Amino acid sequence: MPHPPDYQFCPYDGSSLVPGNTAPPVRPACPRCGFVEYRNAVACATFFILQGGRVLLARRGVSPAKGEWDILGGFVDENESIEEAVRRETREEIGLAVESVEYLGSIPDVYGPRRNPVINLYFLVQTEEGDPVAASDVASVEWFALDALPQQMAFPNQKRAFDLLLQRLARS
Ligand SMILES: [Zn+2]
Repeated sequence: MPHPPDYQFCPYDGSSLVPGNTAPPVRPACPRCGFVEYRNAVACATFFILQGGRVLLARRGVSPAKGEWDILGGFVDENESIEEAVRRETREEIGLAVESVEYLGSIPDVYGPRRNPVINLYFLVQTEEGDPVAASDVASVEWFALDALPQQMAFPNQKRAFDLLLQRLARS
């Protein structure tokens, strides 16, 4: 399904947007001031934490997909590195400090009713010792055996993300 445009009108001067180019992806543009709606992907720092052969997953506490199983993580803030976002989100969502961060790979997806483009960057994270305590936008957390992962996840890319994790673990 193609993405609907974020804007019908220029957010700067209110002009009606027109196709800014002909080859796909066609980007809406303002004929008056030159504004172009690029719809570039927003970066999402997303991570797995393992303990005794089980992986930690989160029950979403907010929309979209409220109540569904989710992989821990969140959007990268302005002026923040991806690694800093992993550390911040781990602290915010489960109250533990990060000791190491290993990159696994990335998977594009869309987010929310406007289907905003997202690039999920997946990591394998080692935390300090301690029990994870759900907070922030996470309603609860639970450890899952790697051969008994949830069939239904909050976002379509997350089943492929499990493959990234399982491929990484098969190499070690
Ligand atoms: Zn304009």
